[in-house]
This record gives sequence, C-alpha cells and structure tokens, in this order.
Amino acid sequence: MEYPGNLFVVAAPSGAGKSSLVKALLELDSKLDVSISHTSRAPRGQEQHGREYWFISSDEFRAMAARGEFFEWAEVHGNLYGTSRAAIEARMAHGDDVVLEIDFQGALQIKQLFPYAVLIFILPPSWDELKQRLNRRGDTEAEVIETRMANARVEVAQAQNFDFVVVNAVFDTAVFDLKSIVHAQRLKYAAQRRNRSAVFRALDLP
Ligand code: 5GP
Repeated sequence: MEYPGNLFVVAAPSGAGKSSLVKALLELDSKLDVSISHTSRAPRGQEQHGREYWFISSDEFRAMAARGEFFEWAEVHGNLYGTSRAAIEARMAHGDDVVLEIDFQGALQIKQLFPYAVLIFILPPSWDELKQRLNRRGDTEAEVIETRMANARVEVAQAQNFDFVVVNAVFDTAVFDLKSIVHAQRLKYAAQRRNRSAVFRALDLP
C-alpha cells in the first residue's frame, strides 16, 4: 500500500519518555498528526474517549479485529491495542504525515504492510535511569515496575530492527533528534517531487 503522506512509527519501553517526546514533536510540527488507537484497557486519570484512545471492551476489540478493521494490533501488558484503518487511512490518503505511538510488535507489523514507514525506537540512557523514571512516575507498584523492567529488556532488543534510534538522555536533544528524522524524511526525492512539483517540472525531473 502506498500513500502520499509519511508514516512515522515510534516505539519504546515504558518509562523511556515516548509520549512526552511525541507530544513535544507534535507541538512543534503542525503538519504532523498522531493516530488515536483503540484499546481494551480502562481509561487512566484524565484520559478521554477519542482523545488518548478509543476505549472499547475486549469483545468489541476482538470483533473489530475479526472484521479486519485494524492495520495492526497486539497485546501489551495484558491489554489489547490496535491501529484502526479508519485512524490513518483518510489522513494519509490526503498526503498528511501521521505518527503512530505503538509497541514494537505493532511497529514491525506496520513495516510489513507499509515498507516505507519510518520506524523510530526511543532508548533510555541506561537501565538504572529507566528504573528511576518508572519509580518517579509514582503510579506504579514495585511488582509492576519489575514486570516493566523485564519487558523493557525484550523491547530494547528490538531496537536493531528499527530505522532510527533516539536516546532520551536530555529531553530537548531527543526532541531535536526526532524533528531531524521527520525533516530528513520530507527531503527524500519522492517527497520533494510531491511537495516541490513546480521546481521538479521546471527542471524536467521525472
Ligand atoms: P499505555 O497503556 O501505557 O497507554 O500503552 C501501553 C503500550 O501500548 C505502549 O507501548 C503504547 O505505545 C502501546 N500502544 C498504544 N497504542 C497501540 C496500538 O495501537 N498498537 C500497538 N501495537 N501498541 C499500542
């Protein structure tokens, strides 16, 4: 499947700072849109249906999956998460750039479907720092932190299958790195041919 827009997929172990980084990136870039996933988990804190996620039951989720309504879906930390076709198809068909903030299993499924998708993995600077960040969140019990740390080892091992790696040691540097990846992608020949069509025509470029 080929769409005119760029598709960026960002994955990271929990605690690496993925959501904050993507949020900062979106604030800096009005041409970037984040896809809203479906999930079977319950809303947390101030989360709203249709803003952070579409919150649905496991039964509804499985029915959508059976109808082929997801580009990808995966079980993460015991809950179901998926990217619906509706969430990104229309935007990408218009040539908009879309960011998916999903887990590594979903990212690898997306790469199979859309080989041109740009996969970005966010790494914490060290295991110690990741553990401290999970502890600082304050909303997670010790046992859950241990599970997340064990999962993080499996997740981080997948970084080698991604196109880009950003180390989130200094937040602003990591945002700059993300911005640079998005910017470079927009300078690729195919993207420039779309965006600068008048120049390409004037230069008789195919
Ligand atoms: P949380 O419950 O903390 O919001 O998310 C847990 C994990 O599920 C995170 O790694 C998040 O990126 C991932 N996730 C969120 N939406 C999707 C999705 O649509 N597909 C997949 N595969 N993972 C997702």
